[in-house]
Amino acid sequence: MVNQEYKALGNSPNVIRELFMYGLERKKKLGEEHVFDFTLGNPSIPAPEEVKTGIKTILDTQEPLKVHGYSPSAGDPEAREAVAADLKSRFGVDVKGREIFLTCGAAPALISVIKALMPEKGSEIMVIAPFFMEYRPFIESNGGKCVVVPPDMGDFRRIDLEAAERLISEKTQAIIVNSPNNPTGAVYPEDVLRALADLLERKSAEFGHPIYIIADEPYRELVYDGVEVPFIPSLYKNTVVCYSYSKSLSLPGERIGYVYVPSFADDSEDLFNAVAGAARISGHICAPTLFQKVIAACADKRPDLRAYDENRRLLYDNLRKMGYECVRPQGAFYLFVKAPNGDANVFSERAKLGHDLLVVPSDAFGCPGYLRVSYCVSKQTIINSFPAFRAVMEELGV
Ligand code: PLP
Repeated sequence: MVNQEYKALGNSPNVIRELFMYGLERKKKLGEEHVFDFTLGNPSIPAPEEVKTGIKTILDTQEPLKVHGYSPSAGDPEAREAVAADLKSRFGVDVKGREIFLTCGAAPALISVIKALMPEKGSEIMVIAPFFMEYRPFIESNGGKCVVVPPDMGDFRRIDLEAAERLISEKTQAIIVNSPNNPTGAVYPEDVLRALADLLERKSAEFGHPIYIIADEPYRELVYDGVEVPFIPSLYKNTVVCYSYSKSLSLPGERIGYVYVPSFADDSEDLFNAVAGAARISGHICAPTLFQKVIAACADKRPDLRAYDENRRLLYDNLRKMGYECVRPQGAFYLFVKAPNGDANVFSERAKLGHDLLVVPSDAFGCPGYLRVSYCVSKQTIINSFPAFRAVMEELGV
């Protein structure tokens, strides 16, 4: 007998992956330049030069058995210290290496924190629509309930706090805040986060236990037009940060990130130990040692965002000229476009079958009626895709 829940999860279609696989087949048949694949959030700029030279230096100068061996469960002290020093220098918070738990990217970081904050079956974790689609299985497969705060439509930069207040219950353990956001590219401004913090403080006092913010921040450094991403632990003490170098250093295949549990958070020691325990039973201790060493050397390196920014402007300006409605994204590398015919699934299917234009319908993000367009692609792909975007609009009679 196999576990029925996991079987269902393994069998359930992942719309992004399915579109991506379809794109690969079509590229084989038609040639790369004839398929406009905007599905995945796979970085399209190379890792900073220092990462490349860092890897070479480590391989050339350090003992192979140490470079490829197991590390302490929470990571090498040197890498943890480097992460802490970088956070401290940027945000003025006295972060210590011992508050950092290195993980195999943001997904295992989130899973460990969600497990750690799930005292019993039926505990609730809130998410804010539209949200990264993996949150739901991460929560539900651990016996939790995923409670969705409906989207605040407008520019997606606000949180519907009245709805959030109605949905918070004594079972609520945490709310996941993802900013810059996948799929909208929005960044929540400080006043919105402060208002959320006020609400959580009030509700924590009412229910007699802390309600944490899980700050999911793989896109923290990917922002444009001088937009600042507020550092949530500075605004709300009961924040746990889940971070990844997948996007900021273009290293998604290397699986490296961290959890930061501030020592000023309530029950921080218990929480850190629960994260460590959850990582242990998920098999996610000892993040890849070579890349821990890379992080020790490169935690303060930033991506060169010019190519993403150029893509962002090009796509946004041209889609707007064609009549598409979308909010100018401030961060990440996604444009969230209103389906001009009102039905994102119909649009996506028509675009795929008629024009090899692959865009993700937003239902899975908990906010139907939109298309996520990932602009971490070549500039030429964007330029080549314009006739297809125009044609689908015309065919759908809008
Ligand atoms: N959180 C969000 C919002 C994401 O978009 C992603 C990946 O796309 C992740 C978490 C997982 O990141 P990682 O590849 O580091 O596991």
